[in-house]
Amino acid sequence: MSGFSFRRPGRLLLRIYLVGLAQLVLVSVVLFLARSLIVEKPFRHGFNRHLQYNVREWGELRNNPAALQASLDRAARMIDAQVTVRDASGQLIASNTSTPLPPLSAAELEALSRSGGAGPPGGPGRGGPGGRGGPGGPGGLPLPGVSPPDPPPPLPVLTLPIPERGPVEAYVSILMRPPTPPSENTTFIVAAVLVCTAITSLVFARTLAGPLQRLAQVAREFGAGKLDTRTGFRRHDELGEVAEAFDEMAGRITHLLRSQKELLANVSHELRTPLSRIRVALDIAAEGDAATARELLTDITEDLSELERLVEDVLTAAKLDLANGGSSGGTPPLRLERVDAHALVDKAAGRFRIARPTHTLEVSVDESLPVLEADPVMLRRVLDNLLDNAGKYSEPRTTVRLRARSTGQGLLFEVADQGIGIDAADLPRVGTPFFRTDRSRARRTGGVGLGLTLARRIIDAHGGTLALESRAGEGTTARITLPAAAPEVQPGGQAESASSAG
Ligand code: ADP
Repeated sequence: MSGFSFRRPGRLLLRIYLVGLAQLVLVSVVLFLARSLIVEKPFRHGFNRHLQYNVREWGELRNNPAALQASLDRAARMIDAQVTVRDASGQLIASNTSTPLPPLSAAELEALSRSGGAGPPGGPGRGGPGGRGGPGGPGGLPLPGVSPPDPPPPLPVLTLPIPERGPVEAYVSILMRPPTPPSENTTFIVAAVLVCTAITSLVFARTLAGPLQRLAQVAREFGAGKLDTRTGFRRHDELGEVAEAFDEMAGRITHLLRSQKELLANVSHELRTPLSRIRVALDIAAEGDAATARELLTDITEDLSELERLVEDVLTAAKLDLANGGSSGGTPPLRLERVDAHALVDKAAGRFRIARPTHTLEVSVDESLPVLEADPVMLRRVLDNLLDNAGKYSEPRTTVRLRARSTGQGLLFEVADQGIGIDAADLPRVGTPFFRTDRSRARRTGGVGLGLTLARRIIDAHGGTLALESRAGEGTTARITLPAAAPEVQPGGQAESASSAG
C-alpha cells in the first residue's frame, strides 16, 4: 500500500484520467491510420479504375457519335462530370456540355503525348495541361491518400489521351469534383470520447478512492488503539479481499493482545497467593519463637518452589510462542537430538514411582520403538506433567497406565488414570492457559493450569498431537503422537533404520 498516497486521493483520480487519455490518443492514432490506409486508399483506387474504364469506352465509341453522346450524357447525369472529346487536331468529337471544354494548345498536346499514357489516369504527370489554375496544379485529381483541397474550386481539368498508349489520336477533357470518401465529424467523435473517458475515469477513480480512504482511516484508528474498529466491507473484488485480510489481521491482533493481558492478569493473580502466604509466614516467624520460625520455613520453601515453577512455566510458554511465531530473534527453545523412547519412558516411570508411591503404575512398551528427533528435556517435562496430573486427579491405590506404542508414522504415548475425570463441557477448555476444572480445584492439588498448555505447545513444536479423552468420575486418558526421526545417513551412504529395541 506504500505506493498510494492516501492524503492526496486526487492523485489517483488524475492518474486514472491520464490513463484514459492515453487510451484515447492511441485509439485516435489507430483510427486515423485505419481511415487513410483501409478506407481512403481503396476508395480512390476504385474511382481511378472507374474513370479509366469510361475513357476507354469513349475512345472505342468515338466513331459512333450517337452512342458516344449517350455515354457522355450518362456521365453528366451519374457522376456529374463535364466531358469533352476531341481528336488530336483539337476538332470537337462530342461533349456533354453546352460550352465544350477548350482544346489543348500544341504544347499541351505535345506534353500529353510525351507523358506516354502509361499508368492510371490521375497519376503523377498525367493531368492535362488544361488545368485552370486549381490548387492541385496540373494533374487534376489529387493523389491517392492525400486529402482533397478545401475549399475545392476552381476545379482542375483532367485530360486523358486516347488510346492509353502510343501516339495520341484523340483526348478527353474532364471537369468534375474529385471524389471524397464518406467523412464523419471526427472532432465531434474525439470530443465525445474525451468527455466519456473523463466521466468513466472519474466514476472508476471514485469507486477505488472511496474504499481506499476508508481502509486508511480504519488502519489509523486501529493503530491509535481502537481495537474493535473494522472495515466491514462486503465486496467481491480485490479491495474486498484487502479489507477482509485487514479485518482478519485486526481480529487476530486483538485476540493476541487480549490473551496477553489475560495472561498478565492470571500470572499476577497466581503470584499473589504464595506471596501473601510467605508474608504471613514471615510475620508469624518474626513474632514467634525459633521453633515456630523453623517450622514456617518449610511452608515458605514450598511457596517459593511454587513461585519458581510458575515463573518458569510462563517463561517457557513465552519462548515456545516466539518459536511458533517464527521470530528469528528468539532463541529456538527446542534442542533437537535423537532420543531413545525406551529411556524416556523408563525415566518418567521411575520419577512417578518415587513421587506417588501409593499409586500402582503399569508400564507397557512395544519392543521396538522408533527413534525420535526431539528435545529430551521438553519431552520429559510433558510426560512428567501427564503422569503428575494422573496422580494428582486420582485416588491413591488406583492404577495409572503408561504405554508407548509404535504406529506406522511414529510413536504413541498414552497416560491413563482412574481418577475424577473431566466434565464433557470442560474438556475443550482444558489446556487453555490457567483453566482448571471445578472438580480439580476442590482437591487443592496446587497447580495453576499451565501444565497442559505447555505440554500442548511442546508437542505442537515437535510436529505431534496431544489429545485428551475423559469421562467424569471414571478417568482420563492423554494421548501423544510424535513423528519418527528421519533415518540417519551413515558416512558410507546407507540409511540406518530409525528404531530402537527395548
Ligand atoms: P494443573 O497444574 O492445574 O494441573 P494442567 O494444565 O496440567 O494444570 O491441567 C489443567 C486442568 O485440567 C487441571 O487443573 C484439571 O482441572 C484438568 N486436568 C488435567 N489432567 C487431568 C486428569 N488426568 N484428570 C482430571 N482432570 C485433569
